[in-house]
Amino acid sequence: MFIDGKWIIREDIDVFDPYTLENIEKITALDREETKNAIEVTEKHKEIMKNLSPSKRYKILMKVAEHLSSKKDFFAKTISIDVGKPIKQSKIEVDRTLTALKLSAFYAKELRGETINSENGLIFTKKEPLGVIGAITPFNFPLNLATHKIGPAIATGNSVVLHPSSKAPIVAIYLTKIIEHVLKQMDIPRGVFNLATGNGEIVGDEISKNDNVNMVSFTGSVEVGESISKNAKMKKVTLELGGNNPMIVLKDSDIKLAAKSAVKSKFLNAGQVCISVGQVLVEEEVVETFTKYVIEETKKLILGNPLDKNTDIGPLISPESALRIENLIKQSVSEGGELLIGGNRQNSLISPAVINIDEENILSKIETFGPILPILTVKDSEEAVNIANNSKYGLQAGLFTNNINNAMKIADELEYGGIMINSSPTFRKDNMPFGGVKKSGLGREGIKYTVEEMSETKTVVIHNI
Ligand code: NAP
Repeated sequence: MFIDGKWIIREDIDVFDPYTLENIEKITALDREETKNAIEVTEKHKEIMKNLSPSKRYKILMKVAEHLSSKKDFFAKTISIDVGKPIKQSKIEVDRTLTALKLSAFYAKELRGETINSENGLIFTKKEPLGVIGAITPFNFPLNLATHKIGPAIATGNSVVLHPSSKAPIVAIYLTKIIEHVLKQMDIPRGVFNLATGNGEIVGDEISKNDNVNMVSFTGSVEVGESISKNAKMKKVTLELGGNNPMIVLKDSDIKLAAKSAVKSKFLNAGQVCISVGQVLVEEEVVETFTKYVIEETKKLILGNPLDKNTDIGPLISPESALRIENLIKQSVSEGGELLIGGNRQNSLISPAVINIDEENILSKIETFGPILPILTVKDSEEAVNIANNSKYGLQAGLFTNNINNAMKIADELEYGGIMINSSPTFRKDNMPFGGVKKSGLGREGIKYTVEEMSETKTVVIHNI
C-alpha cells in the first residue's frame, strides 16, 4: 500500500479495536500481482541502498527516531487501540523502539570486516548487504518488532518490503509515514522502503516465495514459520517463533519475588508475548507458598480499558482469541487441571487465570498466548529440567534459585535459546541476542545480531603485493 513512494488506499480489510470491537480503520489488501510489484520495486531500489554511505544510513535511522520521539504519546495510544495493549505497556514499546532505532544507527557506522594474516598476500573481508529484505511481523509488538527488522536492514544497506499483521496494521502505516517523510527530506527514492499490507496468506506467502527477495525475516507462529521455511528454498531465513517458556522455582529461592515476577510477566499484553511464562515448575516444598503469593498478586491486577493508565490487562486481539483461551481452560480442567482463579470471559477480555496442572495437561505442551498461568509441582530440579526439555519449543526459560553453582549447571542443561536466572523467561533487551532452538526458531535477532544476519561477508584477497 506504500509502494514506490505512492500510497494505494482502498477499503479492503476492516481493522477492529479489540476492546470496543468498533471498526476503526479500513486498509488496503494487496493481491498477489500487487505484492509481486511491491517486491519488484524493492528489488529495483536495492542498489540505491547499497550505495548509500554509512553516514546517510545512520542519518535516516536517527531522523526516524527523532520524529518518532516527538510523537511518542500518539504512537503509544495507537498501539493500545490497534492491539489492545495497556497504555503503560505501549509506552514501553515505543521507548524500546527508539532504542532499537538508535542501536541500528550505531551499527550503520560500525559495519566492519577483518584482515587475515597470510603468506600469500592480503586477505580482508567486507560486510555487504543481502539486497531485498522481506520483513513479516506479528500483531503483538507491531512497532518494536517491525523496527527490529527495518532498523538493521537499513543499517546494512538493504531495501525493505514490510508486511505487518493484518490484525494490527495501523502502527506500521504511521511508521511508514515517518520513513516516507525522512526519505523525502534526504532526497532518497522512496522505493527503498515499501509497505505491503493485506492478508498474510497472500502477501506474506508471496514474500516468502518470490525470487527477488534475498532474505525473509519472520516473526510469528511456528505454523506460519514452517510454511515460510518451505517456501523460501535457498533464501536466507530467520524465524522468531513461539514457545512454552518454563519458569523453574527452586526451594532455595526468594519465593515471593518469584511469584511477583511470574504474575507480572505472565499477564503482560494479556499473555500475548512470545516469551510469556508457559508454565511454572515449582519444587513441592514451596509450591503452597508460591501459589498463595501468585493468587494475592493476581487479585491486584486491573482488567479493562487499555487506554486507562491503571489497566494491567487489556483484551486479547479478538473475541475469537479469547474464546480459544476460554476453551483451553475448559480442556485443561477436563484433563484434571484445577482452576484457582480467573478465566472468565467477556467479549475479548479474559480475567487472569491461574491453574494447577500436571505434565500431561494440554497447558504443559502448547503455547497458550493468553492470560493463563499454569503451575506444576515437581520433586526436584532434575524433574523440572526434564519437563522443561521435554518440549518441542526452546525459546527462553527462567530459573529462580539462590545457588549460583546449581544455576549454572541448570543453565547448561536447559535446551533453550536464553536462560534468565532469578527472572521469569519474559526478559529481553534490544541489544541482546534473542531467538530460540527447536521449533522456536532459527537465527538470532537483537540489533547487532540481526545486522550479522542481514549482511554477507565478502572476502577479498590481494596476491603479489
Ligand atoms: P502469525 O499468525 O504467525 O502471523 C505472523 C505474520 O505472518 C503476520 O504478518 C501474518 O499476516 C503473516 N502470515 C500469515 N500467514 C502467512 C503465510 N502463509 N505466509 C507468510 N506470512 C503469513 O502470528 P501472530 O498471531 O501475528 O503472532 C503470534 C505469534 O507470534 C505467537 O506464536 C508468538 O509467539 C509469535 N511471536 C514470536 C516472537 C519472537 O520474537 N520469537 C515475537 C512475537 C510474537 P496476517 O496477520 O495478515 O495473516
